[in-house]
Amino acid sequence: SSQPYDLVVGCDGVNSIVRKAMEAEHPAFETTSTKLPGQFKVIKLDQIPSSVDPLAVSLILPKAGRTTAFVEPTDTTGGCCILFASSSTDDEGILTNTVNVTAMHESLTASFPQWGENTLRDVATQLMAQTKAGSASSVVCNTYNYGGRAVLAGDAAHATGGVSGQGVNSALQDSVVLANAIRSHRNDLPKALLEYSKKQ
Ligand SMILES: Cc1cc2nc3c(=O)[nH]c(=O)nc-3n(C[C@H](O)[C@H](O)[C@H](O)COP(=O)(O)OP(=O)(O)OC[C@H]3O[C@@H](n4cnc5c(N)ncnc54)[C@H](O)[C@@H]3O)c2cc1C
Repeated sequence: SSQPYDLVVGCDGVNSIVRKAMEAEHPAFETTSTKLPGQFKVIKLDQIPSSVDPLAVSLILPKAGRTTAFVEPTDTTGGCCILFASSSTDDEGILTNTVNVTAMHESLTASFPQWGENTLRDVATQLMAQTKAGSASSVVCNTYNYGGRAVLAGDAAHATGGVSGQGVNSALQDSVVLANAIRSHRNDLPKALLEYSKKQ
């Protein structure tokens, strides 16, 4: 269906369909999206393992294998964990095994023995429930606006795939700068969007 609109803000992430539409419509708009090596799965931890600092983002190298873990606290006790393998070959099967519980348990125990039985069991269950590991991409655009009708913000406009650790902050910054530009040029959207695009 089609709807009338004044302005489309494409804040729809790294695989933005707004960006793809802008690319199709606007010959001068150039964008490059590059799939980064490696794969990951994200799981929720009800409790941060006692061996991990509950107040810090921790990179935990495995005792065996090649899958590393980022543990990020999200509240007073719990957090999330990104299990990441930089190579697409996942020899120990932590990111690809979805059928063999025993093999998964053995791989996790060999990699992160310090996490303890209960955490490892929970991690194994969550990993095996996710059929496919994700991958990250970087995005670069030569401009973020298309006249005064469409504009990109956050990962839709620029993404590093998480390696900078700044993606959320820069997406928030985009929204503030865009809002200020629109407020300053309320009756001239093309000018507002161009100002935002140049600043960001
Ligand atoms: C593995 C990994 C680790 C990361 N670690 C960090 C970190 O430690 N610190 C950090 O700052 N950043 C990190 N990032 C980057 C961070 O996640 C992003 O930069 C940030 O989420 C970008 O915010 P966004 O709002 O632009 O996009 P997103 O968070 O992707 O939000 C886009 C939203 O749009 C929705 N959407 C998409 N298409 C449509 C549609 N057609 N209709 C309606 N809704 C739609 C999506 O569902 C989603 O909710 C990491 C990224 C990855 C991949």
